[in-house]
Amino acid sequence: MTVSTHVATALGVTTATMALVNHFAGYSIQTEHIAQFIIFVLIGAVFPDIDEPESWIGKRTIIISHFIKFLFGHRGMTHTLLSTIIILAVPMVYSSFIKEVDVHFMWMVYGFTTGWLMHSVGDAHTKGGVPIFLPFKKKKYHILPKTMRFKTNTWVEHMIYAPLYNLMTLASSYLMYVDGYISIV
Ligand SMILES: [Zn+2]
Repeated sequence: MTVSTHVATALGVTTATMALVNHFAGYSIQTEHIAQFIIFVLIGAVFPDIDEPESWIGKRTIIISHFIKFLFGHRGMTHTLLSTIIILAVPMVYSSFIKEVDVHFMWMVYGFTTGWLMHSVGDAHTKGGVPIFLPFKKKKYHILPKTMRFKTNTWVEHMIYAPLYNLMTLASSYLMYVDGYISIV
């Protein structure tokens, strides 16, 4: 999956979840925290492909990228539940040792972790699938039936899936606006 579709998928799923939780459970997040969260969802959604030097993020971190690919291979450890847990656990453990936890920092951590996981959700749409339970299970998982899976960077991705997720973001934003979750001054 290309970087733009990863961003669209992460944004679509996240905004839809926020809109639905707000609509049905009445839970809302402060505006500044939404901004911190969403920005880091987008950053987190890009990072797992650091294991591929030809990816958008890989080209910008070329030495680290080659090193990670050498260690784990592409769509390896950065595309797993375990790496997601580690990314969340490290700052959580760190913050448990300091007296005053910075709430803004924690929203950024939640955002980055969510984006990181959403990246694997995105790749699970493709024919290649994702070995989400590495290193415990090598099996690659998908979230779509066989006939609906697509190859990365093909017309199906750009003409169908990315627009669908963009539509999801628009619909969710509209729902949040109607619910008074977000307002345009
Ligand atoms: Zn990937």
